[in-house]
Amino acid sequence: MKNNNNLFEEKNIFTPELYVKGIYIAAQTGTDVFVKRENAEQCAKASAIIPLRRGSIYVIRFDSKPDALRVGVCTSDPRALKDGEGMSGMKKPNTPYYEGETPDYCDFMYVPQTEGEYLVVYTGEKMPEFFIGDNPILIGKDTDDLWWYAPEQKDLFGNADSWGNWAWTSDEVLEHIYEPMRAKHPDYITRRWIGKDETGKYDMWSYIFEPKDFEQVLFITGGIHAAEMDGYLGLARFFEYMVDSDGSHAGLHYLRTKVKIVLIPIVNVGSASGKHLRENLVGADLNRDFEARSQAETLNTIWLFRQYEKQLAAAIDFHTSKATTLDLYYQFQIQSNAASCWLKTINHIYEYLKDKGLTNEPTDLSYIPGKYDKSDAYLQGYFYNHFGVPTLVAEHHHLRWYPMHSAENMQLAVDFYGNFIIQTALAKLKLIK
Ligand SMILES: [Zn+2]
Repeated sequence: MKNNNNLFEEKNIFTPELYVKGIYIAAQTGTDVFVKRENAEQCAKASAIIPLRRGSIYVIRFDSKPDALRVGVCTSDPRALKDGEGMSGMKKPNTPYYEGETPDYCDFMYVPQTEGEYLVVYTGEKMPEFFIGDNPILIGKDTDDLWWYAPEQKDLFGNADSWGNWAWTSDEVLEHIYEPMRAKHPDYITRRWIGKDETGKYDMWSYIFEPKDFEQVLFITGGIHAAEMDGYLGLARFFEYMVDSDGSHAGLHYLRTKVKIVLIPIVNVGSASGKHLRENLVGADLNRDFEARSQAETLNTIWLFRQYEKQLAAAIDFHTSKATTLDLYYQFQIQSNAASCWLKTINHIYEYLKDKGLTNEPTDLSYIPGKYDKSDAYLQGYFYNHFGVPTLVAEHHHLRWYPMHSAENMQLAVDFYGNFIIQTALAKLKLIK
């Protein structure tokens, strides 16, 4: 990747000595993945055995497609097994592909949950070109210091004591939220007209938050699906806090004083102006249009992105999901170094939900990194595949725990959206210093 893909330094910890003959993962009857050892050095089958440390994020990439692929994690060193012994109860790492036929795309990542775990990667009889990166990031701990907790939120029902109204048109969102911000801070916030929607009736606007001495640039989009009001309004609420930062939170203040943010508050402006559908007013799902680029909204978004493309540290596309069973749903390129920062943030969100009694699901089963990142049809895949900018899709579940448009939902949206932006910026800061 050519630019900006440097939020974290990754260390390649793979050495050929870690590729051990005689140990491999075999499919057992049922669902278990299993480690065995047969005839030691005589056995052609071999796996990479990687001792892991808690406090690191591991990213595994293949330069070429391996002959086979099975991945598991065990809690003791499989090299200590005797001939013919097996080990059951292996965990599956968080990967879209961990067994069966090898797909073209099979990169994955893993975060050890306990000390003393071993990652076992069986790749067939020929050792492929491998990259196993160790990102020494303390999970949770180093975001704790600078985690931003949003003040108590109000709802979006449009009542006298509400913060806003979910039914606002896109122009009303600008008029109620973004325009007063811009009027208050004319030296910091500017806006730019970026074109009309596909019907030619509605204007698309971008807001640019530019501190005098900025150190980095982020590109942020909301409302590409106009049915996701709690999402783009939660985002707007976060920007109010950022703009009025008094310096008491170092992360928020870093954003306010050192980060230029190029924002499209609502991409799907036509549908957000009344109908509030996922699709735009001619029925196109804009977040499936980036390969075809058939819609004005898509072209306007790409045009704006390309004005800043060379400077961008990352892009974030905020969504709201109807998922009622998933706790977390985030997509990003696990090949990009920004993945560490985002995984760390997701992990923190998971701990936050657990503290609130909202989840008991194991964290590594409830989000799916990497699923869409190879597809150019999505904003996310298009930005990364063509321009090398790490891109996160962050979904907020407005039906998972609380009623739509409720104060509780706003609380989660503002907290989580805000912290993704803050932590993404801080990750880069750690490299600068
Ligand atoms: Zn969406």
